[in-house]
Amino acid sequence: MDRSFSAEAEGLQLALDLLRAGPGQGQATALPERMPESGLGEIQTLAMLAPIVLGQAAPLGAATAFAHMDPPTPWVTWALTLWNASLNQNLLHPATAPVARNIEQLVIGWLAPYFGMQGGHMTPGCTVANLTALWAARENAGVTEVIASEGAHLSIAKAAHLLGLRYRTLASDRTGAMIAEALEGDLSRTVLVLTAGTTSGGRLDPLTLAGRAGWTHIDAAWAGPLRLSARHGDRLAGLERADSVAVSAHKWLFQPKESAFVLFRDVASAHAAVSFGGAYLATPNIGVLGSHGAAATPLLATLLAWGGTGVASRIDRCMEMAERLAEFVAQDADLELLARPETGVVNWRPRVVERMDEFYGRLPEGSTSRTVIAEEPWFRNVAANPNFNVEAFLVQLRGANVASRRPSPAPLLR
Ligand SMILES: *Cc1c(COP(=O)(O)O)cnc(C)c1O
Repeated sequence: MDRSFSAEAEGLQLALDLLRAGPGQGQATALPERMPESGLGEIQTLAMLAPIVLGQAAPLGAATAFAHMDPPTPWVTWALTLWNASLNQNLLHPATAPVARNIEQLVIGWLAPYFGMQGGHMTPGCTVANLTALWAARENAGVTEVIASEGAHLSIAKAAHLLGLRYRTLASDRTGAMIAEALEGDLSRTVLVLTAGTTSGGRLDPLTLAGRAGWTHIDAAWAGPLRLSARHGDRLAGLERADSVAVSAHKWLFQPKESAFVLFRDVASAHAAVSFGGAYLATPNIGVLGSHGAAATPLLATLLAWGGTGVASRIDRCMEMAERLAEFVAQDADLELLARPETGVVNWRPRVVERMDEFYGRLPEGSTSRTVIAEEPWFRNVAANPNFNVEAFLVQLRGANVASRRPSPAPLLR
């Protein structure tokens, strides 16, 4: 019996203790430059890696983290991820994943109706979800080109490139959202990609354009989970008329990476279009991936533990944080707000743009990111962390604002 393959209580307990110690780990020792000839053993390895892997990571759940679309994850997903790693189910084969395959279909079945879709499957991210949707569009709608806004995510251009589809962008407004009037002409051989929550600014393309083209795909990687919110779900009205929708669960559904899903209005024909059946497969291989793991089980655990309202309340709380920051910026004469936030992303900057570097340097690390929208530089805050302390941040922001103010220029002549 090789004990490296069984659950060793002492080792798992140590892993848990180190995890709970958080970033406060001991001194990191340098990792060996060459692969060791003889192993350290598991316990020694955990002790060596904790100060590096746990101690040096960016703390996404810290009270100061407000910069990116990467949320902290609920602990119940850590437990399921540990189980997943130990079981190593392969969803490609029903025989190796009898339960996990059903769980994926159950979870997809729970979520699809929020988006007006019939069903779909999980992917490791929206990059693959978008590729899969455009692939189905190419097969089933005979499309030859993709149209998206300038604010669309780079994965759309990437997918068009891989699929041999022409890629065109439509003019965006100054917030990065598609200008509806820019869409014209015969779109019968076009995939129209509408973004629900642009990556830089969280803007919503006019989703009521869904249905105007041969195929409409909605990239709801970021804002899709808003559909679960009774308060904000209507912001995504129109999306139910799309042919496909992509959502990243490792963004606003608080899942560990890599977790996302692609949904189709007509799932049978879409899945048939993106399936291959190899001789050794009992069931056809649907989608881009071959072997893949049970990403749906942490999502199932989250939805069971929190329920729909539990998910929605976290998202609503994030929306409030973004609103609060926007309100604050709008009321400060020194600061400029790009637009009222639509999906929890806030873009702002000092009115004197030359102050941005100095200002940024004075904001808490990890609190804010930088982006360019319509060729203009902006700060970007993303409300993905329900533990973010917005009031403490506003105090620091105010301080950074005062400290980064330029001294008034010295008069040339006295
Ligand atoms: C993050 C994002 C993607 C890519 O999703 P991944 O899950 O990172 O692969 C696609 N589109 C938009 C709008 C995004 O914000």
